[in-house]
Amino acid sequence: MKTHHLIIGASAGAISAIEAIRSIDGGRASITVISDERPAGYSKPMLPEFLAGEVDIKGILFRDEAFWRRNKVRLIYGRVSELDLDCRKAKVSGNPSILELEYERLLVATGGKPIISQIEGLENVEKYTFTTLGDAEGLANRLPETSNVAVIGGGLIGVGLSEALIKLGKRVVLIELKPHILSQVLDEKASGILEDRMRRAGVEIRTGHTVARVHWRSHPEKPSYAELDDGDRIPCQQIIMAIGVTPNVELASKAGVETGKGIIVNERMETSIPGVYACGDAVELYDFAHEGRRPLPLWPVARWTGKTAGYNMAGSSRELQGATSMSAMKYFGVPIVSVGHVNPGSQDGYEVEAYLDPARRVYRKIVIKDERIAGFILLGEICDAGIMYYLMRSRVDVRRIKGRIPTRGLGLAHLPRRVRKELLRR
Ligand SMILES: Cc1cc2nc3c(=O)[nH]c(=O)nc-3n(C[C@H](O)[C@H](O)[C@H](O)COP(=O)(O)OP(=O)(O)OC[C@H]3O[C@@H](n4cnc5c(N)ncnc54)[C@H](O)[C@@H]3O)c2cc1C
Repeated sequence: MKTHHLIIGASAGAISAIEAIRSIDGGRASITVISDERPAGYSKPMLPEFLAGEVDIKGILFRDEAFWRRNKVRLIYGRVSELDLDCRKAKVSGNPSILELEYERLLVATGGKPIISQIEGLENVEKYTFTTLGDAEGLANRLPETSNVAVIGGGLIGVGLSEALIKLGKRVVLIELKPHILSQVLDEKASGILEDRMRRAGVEIRTGHTVARVHWRSHPEKPSYAELDDGDRIPCQQIIMAIGVTPNVELASKAGVETGKGIIVNERMETSIPGVYACGDAVELYDFAHEGRRPLPLWPVARWTGKTAGYNMAGSSRELQGATSMSAMKYFGVPIVSVGHVNPGSQDGYEVEAYLDPARRVYRKIVIKDERIAGFILLGEICDAGIMYYLMRSRVDVRRIKGRIPTRGLGLAHLPRRVRKELLRR
């Protein structure tokens, strides 16, 4: 079977690419999508809500079933097991109706896979990650017999999962190796506020520690426990590893696509092989706030990179001049936006301005380099996030306004006239 565009994976990156292709070609070229997850196109950030029973499967679909039909996409459930990039062929397994596909353009949107750290005793535990709908369904099935859960990893996945488990009435211990949770996107102060709220909701947080070994017992009188590196015992019937994801590059790399920490792409999201594109959690990108290349496994980044890939696959040249981390979250009732480089530490050339109102639990931090915003955190009150991101992305000189940003916030009236006009035009 032949197709014009072949897309591997059917999540944020793939969907954004399809929408971009169709916005250009009006449905002319054939698109085939292979997904090894069913249903295709659900929202991973909503998995905690699904686990907590707040939404059903339909509720977490990012695009409903009609999307594929409407966009004339042939959606095939199966797994691409091998690529022959010279002959432009893909081998599919797990679906008897299709074994091999020929394509013109290929998009690798294979996402990330969970990072597993080797912990003695954990090799005997059947399923212990939380990155797919299958993981969430499996965990939901096991929860009726579970009262205590140990969550390893205090990133976006671990914190969201902890909240869902607390809602379900479970006792949760969150174990994080770094000195504070969400260390990739928050600083110590912001994490501290959230940690305080989490503790009050019932989560026990053990930062600065890891699990050294797991003692798994089937005897009810001898409960299972996780042993921390300081010897402390955490009784639990479930252990979930939530220490993040790493780009899923094996398929592409085996076929000869250049990879580093992730699949290497240019500004058009094209890989080292002409006609082969990649996007989302699978790639590494130039992070313009951190000034270096790295994977950015975040939903909005998957959307931007997928869209860019799609336009270029459809023949409309578009470039994405890097990206940066961007997280808008609400955990335990605390709204937070974090963008870019928020923890410069003692790095040269960075200025930090911060404001904390403990009574209102409002925290604002802005990181400036060369009179431009390199990153910011808004916690408690997040209404300025759009303007701040605009100033950052457009590299607006903030010399004249920087003193007031953290303390009083930003309204349009405080912006330079040229910037105000530009913002109003959008
Ligand atoms: C629990 C959880 C919470 C999250 N919360 C947030 C959040 O709050 N904010 C945020 O910005 N981001 C969050 N993320 C990250 C976000 O979901 C990802 O960045 C985004 O889903 C990446 O999209 P993607 O299209 O690159 O890949 P993915 O969503 O990983 O999808 C890739 C798909 O490709 C399939 N696939 C892989 N290999 C093959 C193959 N060979 N053949 C066929 N199919 C294949 C995979 O099974 C998967 O279905 C969260 C992730 C998780 C797991």
